[in-house]
Amino acid sequence: MSANAIVVGSGVMGASIAFSLAKRGYAVTVVDKKSGPAQGSTGATSAIVRFTYSLRDSIAMAWESKHLWENLRGHVQAPESEPVADFIRTGMAVIDIPGLLPDTIRTDFADLSIPYADWDAADLARELPGVDTSNHYPPKRPDDPAFLNDSDEPATALYTSDGGYISDPVLATENFARAAKRHGAQFLYNAEVIGVRHSVSDEDYRASEGNHDASDVRPEDGATGQSSAAWTLNLSDGRVLDADVVVNAAGPWSSRFNELAGVGSDHGVSLTPLRQEVHTLPAESTVIRSDGTPIPALLDAGIGTYMRAEVGGQLLIGGSEPECDELEWVEDPDTVSMSVRPEQFETQALRAAKRFTDITIPNRARGVVGVYDASTDWTPIYDRSEADGFYQAIGTSGNQFKNAPLVGEAMAELIDAVEHGHDHDHDPVRIALGHTGGELNLGTFSRLRSPAGTSGNVMG
Ligand SMILES: Cc1cc2nc3c(=O)[nH]c(=O)nc-3n(C[C@H](O)[C@H](O)[C@H](O)COP(=O)(O)OP(=O)(O)OC[C@H]3O[C@@H](n4cnc5c(N)ncnc54)[C@H](O)[C@@H]3O)c2cc1C
Repeated sequence: MSANAIVVGSGVMGASIAFSLAKRGYAVTVVDKKSGPAQGSTGATSAIVRFTYSLRDSIAMAWESKHLWENLRGHVQAPESEPVADFIRTGMAVIDIPGLLPDTIRTDFADLSIPYADWDAADLARELPGVDTSNHYPPKRPDDPAFLNDSDEPATALYTSDGGYISDPVLATENFARAAKRHGAQFLYNAEVIGVRHSVSDEDYRASEGNHDASDVRPEDGATGQSSAAWTLNLSDGRVLDADVVVNAAGPWSSRFNELAGVGSDHGVSLTPLRQEVHTLPAESTVIRSDGTPIPALLDAGIGTYMRAEVGGQLLIGGSEPECDELEWVEDPDTVSMSVRPEQFETQALRAAKRFTDITIPNRARGVVGVYDASTDWTPIYDRSEADGFYQAIGTSGNQFKNAPLVGEAMAELIDAVEHGHDHDHDPVRIALGHTGGELNLGTFSRLRSPAGTSGNVMG
């Protein structure tokens, strides 16, 4: 009989994991408290695809995932009649600022066969018409008198021609969800998981005497009394589900869901929700070049932003957590104001106007609000938990949409290995990278790690 798996969360991660598990024969149920897919952080994502991470395994994951996005239809085995999200290849330039790019990145790119080029100011001017080619580091706020200062220092950038973005992140999530359904998965919406119980075997229960978690019950105490499944989940609509495997893919609600399940006590990194705004403004002449192609995406941490062309001749502007900005850490993602704040819009638009000189700043603030599930080292946890059968794909830190196709496969392989007795904590599972060669050590994303040395911001 196939194992029952419940995936909590129908964002891009939950949908991709559901597909990869269902494809391997698991009987999958995805549960989400929202009314449809991609209504958490996925719905607000900028969906940029880039390879500039601090850790080699993160770079390898993004590079392999790019190849999966390029053939999403093939990956999810979608019929020709189904629209699928596109990968828009624009290239990506990362403006060099002190401490952002690790010394090892060019070696890692060369080892992984990721094409790159070092750009000087003339390259920037050629590829991004209307760009100001100065280095404006360090980032400042517009009310700082130094904000208006010109800089004589020319900017340089690390350019990767294979960067870009996914055209429609909601459609991409639906593509994974439909693929999962074709393999028998069911999706339950408007259903919040409000209770989690773990049945431990009598033997395990005795072995951990005096050390039981609030959610532990003996098998015979289980809610249904009929199933041998280890986990019982109570839903807000009154339904009770049993499962052998539970996957936390709850995005910024992940820590809250772990608490509900009584897991997470052994984490070496902590996770905190972080409110974010992403703004858009009309800038057709800036984002579309004379040959009709969109400009490369730009990570411009020297002014505190990342930017890319958005459909409809818009410039999309997100933040890179500069030290001069106060970060909005939140306790409860459900209480976050989802309205764009005019002062934040103005700050980011003025920053963008320092880089792109012919931008006109509109009076009306436009954009979206989302919440990151930020980890201490801006690197995700893709792992089991201390409780058998409970897995985690969390802490995605504003930088993991691009990795979703591979995360599905990686989590399914990890779950399969651990469910068959593999000791992942001591001998981390490695997965083969089918398109780009080599393998990925999933131990890099262990919950037990001490915080890794990374950029300390959304770059990861
Ligand atoms: C503003 C913004 C910009 C970003 N830009 C980029 C980018 O350019 N490139 C990139 O690679 N990444 C980016 N990211 C990050 C990326 O979007 C996320 O890493 C990714 O979307 C996380 O997906 P998820 O499925 O883990 O979480 P979510 O999409 O948040 O899904 C979690 C789901 O879990 C459900 N849930 C939670 N608790 C429960 C419960 N108890 N019961 C039932 N359901 C529950 C929620 O309703 C939600 O639908 C960005 C993120 C944001 C917010």
